[in-house]
Amino acid sequence: MSALEIKNLKVSVEGKEILKGLNLTINQGEVHAIMGPNGTGKSTLAYTLMGHPGYTVTGGEIIFKGKNILDLEADERSRAGIFLAFQYPVSIPGVTVANFLRTAINSRRRAANPEDKGISIPDFRTMLKEKMALLKMDPAFAGRYLNDGFSGGEKKRAEILQMATLKPEIAILDETDSGLDIDALRIVSEGVNALNGPDLGVLVITHYQRLLNYIKPQFVHIMMNGIIVESGGPDLALRLEEMGYDWVREKYEEVA
Ligand code: ADP
Ligand code: MG
Repeated sequence: MSALEIKNLKVSVEGKEILKGLNLTINQGEVHAIMGPNGTGKSTLAYTLMGHPGYTVTGGEIIFKGKNILDLEADERSRAGIFLAFQYPVSIPGVTVANFLRTAINSRRRAANPEDKGISIPDFRTMLKEKMALLKMDPAFAGRYLNDGFSGGEKKRAEILQMATLKPEIAILDETDSGLDIDALRIVSEGVNALNGPDLGVLVITHYQRLLNYIKPQFVHIMMNGIIVESGGPDLALRLEEMGYDWVREKYEEVA
């Protein structure tokens, strides 16, 4: 079964149609990249998948594990197994990274079973240690306040650690406007590559071809004017790097 199926999705923001019938299927174990010029609706897609209330779905379906999830709130989607990495994560002074992650895990467990007592502290510590080792993170990081004074790269690390501990089935990473430096790019990419496996489907949204030098997607899609206009393999990203978007624009003059 496909993990995530987006069918003819139409989305409006403040009365203006931004997504105009977008189709995309992501299976677990697959890494997809969406690329496209600024303003084509890539972030709109990410926010809509997460269930942001400012984005009105006017048509189509989002099917996750066989169920239409359009009626689910953002937190319900998260507990169902969808993870969205925020472009601009909020800081929570007074709450450590470890506390935050334990709360998130427990909230998910309780949603699945109201009787659940939560993960024990020793089990949590063991798990966290494993994940941090996998991501080559300094254990001291877990004791810092979430995003409080974090550098761009550290915020990315916190995000990837969250992804590692929550074990989503679909992870969506919108990296479009965040001005990622090479260091942050590398962190995100190494994290995604370390977590990549048969249980995880990944959708990386990016304006920059260079991210794809680190994350190797099997599928590359080009988005323009609210729809996916071209899909292919990694060669498509290379073609964009060489030729830019003009050839796509020309090919799709009627939509661009
Ligand atoms: P991309 O991520 O591809 O650069 P966006 O999804 O951010 O594109 O934006 C697509 C279009 O939707 C743009 O014209 C943008 O101005 C508009 N838009 C997106 N989000 C909002 C919002 N919250 N309020 C108003 N307009 C928005
Ligand atoms: Mg964007």
